[in-house]
Amino acid sequence: MDNPRRAAILKVMDFDTDIAIVGGGLNGPTLALALAQTGQRVTLIDAAESGPRAVPGFDGRSYAMALTSVRLMQGLGLWEALEENAQPMLEIKVTDGRAGEGPSPFFMHFDHAEIEEGPMGWMVEDRHLRPALLAAVDAESRIIQRNGARVVAQEPDGAGITLTLADGGTIRARLAVGADGRSSGTGRRAGIKRVEWAYGQTALVCAINHELPHHGVAHQFFMPPGPLAILPLTGNRSSIVWSETTENAKRINALPDEEYLEVLRPRFGSFLGEISLAGARYTYP
Ligand SMILES: Cc1cc2nc3c(=O)[nH]c(=O)nc-3n(C[C@H](O)[C@H](O)[C@H](O)COP(=O)(O)OP(=O)(O)OC[C@H]3O[C@@H](n4cnc5c(N)ncnc54)[C@H](O)[C@@H]3O)c2cc1C
Repeated sequence: MDNPRRAAILKVMDFDTDIAIVGGGLNGPTLALALAQTGQRVTLIDAAESGPRAVPGFDGRSYAMALTSVRLMQGLGLWEALEENAQPMLEIKVTDGRAGEGPSPFFMHFDHAEIEEGPMGWMVEDRHLRPALLAAVDAESRIIQRNGARVVAQEPDGAGITLTLADGGTIRARLAVGADGRSSGTGRRAGIKRVEWAYGQTALVCAINHELPHHGVAHQFFMPPGPLAILPLTGNRSSIVWSETTENAKRINALPDEEYLEVLRPRFGSFLGEISLAGARYTYP
């Protein structure tokens, strides 16, 4: 005799995809590629259209990728192409100081020669990393992309999970992964609690050209209002992540480029010679 609950059971076992990933920023596509390579069917969902996420020009953003992240990119088959434009970080120097006074004579120093595995990490620009990930996702037939699709609800059950999109559509998966950034709605809807506190700081972010070579050295200066990171990029360029009190950052960011550099120069010092902007300026958050 037919099981009267057969239709309901079949519906529950009917999946659009094995794994639905909410968020197509950096972590979502990376995980999607890794899962697809193990044979899983993946649906990668992002509220944004893919165009703005794959901007080809240099917008000043870059990432310090630690050795483990580089190994991940190697495993995904992406590193060979990324390495051409990546800058190895050979040393990291951490010190404190005050604007105009230069760094303290005491500093922490990490040298790649001590780890015997190559550089401490690599600087990779967003304009190279993001398109490489998205091109690999495009080429992977096991990944279905749903761009311009915002997930607004999720309902887990005994067999899987149903995601509801803002347009009313649904996606049913065996498993859903939240890769939807620091305000993750997936996490909130799943009841994952988190503790947050504000530092009252905002990071001013840009890339600069400088006169003298950086020799692959990354610097982190701890200043009274917040840390200043100077991270080497290819050529005579560095990425700047410059944390200030939110009030200071707002004021500095409103300045025209040349005045902005005038504020940066005494914090930066003269060890890289003359500096100029090499891309757009940003603030986070
Ligand atoms: C100034 C700065 C410098 C940094 N430097 C480094 C560094 O040197 N090295 C490093 O490793 N990291 C660095 N980071 C951190 C790094 O940028 C983040 O950890 C990383 O971008 C997070 O990626 P993600 O994919 O998790 O999230 P995100 O890149 O935030 O992507 C989340 C995606 O989810 C989508 N989304 C959100 N909600 C929904 C929804 N409801 N439905 C569908 N889609 C949704 C969004 O559209 C977005 O595309 C830096 C960050 C900042 C701000």
